[in-house]
Amino acid sequence: MPRKKSDHALTLPILSAACCPQSRGANLKGLCPFHKEKTPSFTVTPAKGIFYCFGCHKGGDVFTFLMEFEGLSFSEALHMLADEAGRDSCTAPLSKHLSVR
Ligand SMILES: [Zn+2]
Repeated sequence: MPRKKSDHALTLPILSAACCPQSRGANLKGLCPFHKEKTPSFTVTPAKGIFYCFGCHKGGDVFTFLMEFEGLSFSEALHMLADEAGRDSCTAPLSKHLSVR
């Protein structure tokens, strides 16, 4: 399976949602990266750090997104989140995942 081009317009909100769930209130909505669509049905719930598409019913947490969309392994996803969390200095929600290492 060819590696998809990163769409940071979508990745970054999900990462920051996972890193700092308190920093945003409303759900984020955008065009789904997993299927073609013209009206946004891809939602991110920052408070929970999860995403869901009402068009193709793909959903999960930030790890699922990074592994499926960015083509990362679980440990690569962990490192990417750790980098992002380091930049934001907001690691609390990630600590339970990061302690797996
Ligand atoms: Zn979709």
